[in-house]
Amino acid sequence: RQVGYAVLGLGELTLDELLPAYATAGRSRLAAVVSDDRDKAVQSALAYGLSEADAYSYDTFEDLAGRDDVQAVYIVLPNALHREYAERAARIGKHVLCEKPLAGNVEDAEAIVRACRDAGVRLMTAYRCQYTPVHWRARDLVQGGALGAVKLIHSVNVQVEPDEGQWRLRRDLAGGGSLLDVGLYCINTVRFLLGTEPLEVTARTHSTPGDPRFTEVEESVTFQLEFPDGVLVSCSCSYGASHARTLDVYGAEGRLSLDPAFDYTSLRLRVHTPDAVTEHRLRETDQFTLEIDHFSACIQGGRDPFTPGEEGLQDERIMAAIYRSARERQPVRLDEHPGRDVFR
Ligand code: NAD
Repeated sequence: RQVGYAVLGLGELTLDELLPAYATAGRSRLAAVVSDDRDKAVQSALAYGLSEADAYSYDTFEDLAGRDDVQAVYIVLPNALHREYAERAARIGKHVLCEKPLAGNVEDAEAIVRACRDAGVRLMTAYRCQYTPVHWRARDLVQGGALGAVKLIHSVNVQVEPDEGQWRLRRDLAGGGSLLDVGLYCINTVRFLLGTEPLEVTARTHSTPGDPRFTEVEESVTFQLEFPDGVLVSCSCSYGASHARTLDVYGAEGRLSLDPAFDYTSLRLRVHTPDAVTEHRLRETDQFTLEIDHFSACIQGGRDPFTPGEEGLQDERIMAAIYRSARERQPVRLDEHPGRDVFR
């Protein structure tokens, strides 16, 4: 039997990617949609084979408690709203798949992890890249020694965010700027590839003076992370630079390059050694379908997902340290915090 989901928020990601992903999922099915826009909710429900009765509003969200065919909710709302809906979902006994970043700040992320743990429901941070075969191949190559000892990693995630009064540029809804939205990919992918945790961070932020988009959240962030065994990581993210999403791992015997590294499709993985360039071509399956079906398999099998809430929480802590380092203009140690096992 498939796991039924209620999807909260009918914005760009839900309409363009997630609802279509359910149509091709094996273990998962769309069972309800939740939005304040009644017309949009009904239209979306009908378009995906549901009925008008499957369209809920945020006020009637708790009515899902009586729906045995809805086992999970997928939260696809502005970052700062994740906590409220994760807590409400946990209270009515639904498993929670939550979009990235897990929350708008560390405190909210901790509250989400705690609420789900206390309610006995499973929680997954929706890190789609960690469910793609290309990223797993990259991880196998890095951890399997194909590049020799890893020395350096450089990663960039930049895009231009337009000023349309959108929530991403508002601190109360986004929690932060380019770091929380796109810089996060650099952090969690490096941690995924290395399988270790950063020890120290140094960072700088910058916002163009007078640019009305960046009165509440930062435009650009550049940060260096020091990992165990002397692996030095340098990352940059921005809301002001034309789009690029890359990650390069430099080892003693070769370089691995992901370019694009974080797009929804057509990820490209190459390994450069002194003698050859090898392109790794892998079967492409929709990343969102893989991610959703992974969570369903965990619900069905009674186990934790590969990217549980603690993963999202750990990244929130690292991002908080990045902001602190930029603010105080000095390095911040990370190795005294408890890491992803904090609630286990
Ligand atoms: P969006 O602006 O397109 O949609 C947000 C939805 O939230 C809209 O339906 C809006 O009506 C609703 N909403 C409810 N209350 C709101 C409020 N107070 N203010 C503004 N909107 C409100 O955003 P999106 O791009 O779909 O992003 C939603 C979440 O998904 C974010 O957490 C974002 O980081 C995440 N996201 C993840 C990926 C990914 O690749 N995994 C990609 C895009 C977005």
